[in-house]
Amino acid sequence: MISAAIEISDSTALPANDGIGIDIGLKDTAVCSDKIIYKNINKTVNVKKLKKKQRRLQRKISKKYLKNKKGESYCKTSNIIKSEKQLIKVNHRLTDIRHNYQHQVTTEILKRKPNFIVLENLNVAGMMKNKHLAKAIQEQGFYEFYRQIKYKAIWNNIKFIEAPRFYPSSKLCCICKNIKSDLKLSDRVCRCSCGNVIDRDYQASVNLYDYGKLIV
Ligand SMILES: [Zn+2]
Repeated sequence: MISAAIEISDSTALPANDGIGIDIGLKDTAVCSDKIIYKNINKTVNVKKLKKKQRRLQRKISKKYLKNKKGESYCKTSNIIKSEKQLIKVNHRLTDIRHNYQHQVTTEILKRKPNFIVLENLNVAGMMKNKHLAKAIQEQGFYEFYRQIKYKAIWNNIKFIEAPRFYPSSKLCCICKNIKSDLKLSDRVCRCSCGNVIDRDYQASVNLYDYGKLIV
């Protein structure tokens, strides 16, 4: 069970008629404006071990293919078949863990019965063009996470709000509303001249929440 690998917080009740802003990210899977954080499952020991095993098998298989190459044709030895079966098993295991976790997190958020949920419009296709981020985004399943939150919200009659793509969620100071345009992706903490010092992802979730509050 993945709940052993990652601690899922107890569902804390929200004040009546309150909503949740959610920042989806690479560091943590989701940071919520009610201060509940869901860690990135891909950073757990269990998943890291499986990914290592996956890489090892992939290398082993390609090496064996090259070793057994006859002229132009590749030969599938029983050893290769065995390793390929192992690799398929590891791949399935990883997919299962990630899927279960997504379901667990999205269900958990909805269980808090928010009045509304705000997510950022994610430009997943655009982000995937960045080859440094593409793999992490794929592993995290950004798109799937977004889709699940949305359909579960609609299913439970919870207002689903999407903040526009260029809404400066992490750059906007949630206290004085100044935009810190020089905030880099590597800056984990946002320090505003008004004295506000805040985790950038948490600030994003608060700003998304504020955006939703204006609409509902
Ligand atoms: Zn400020």
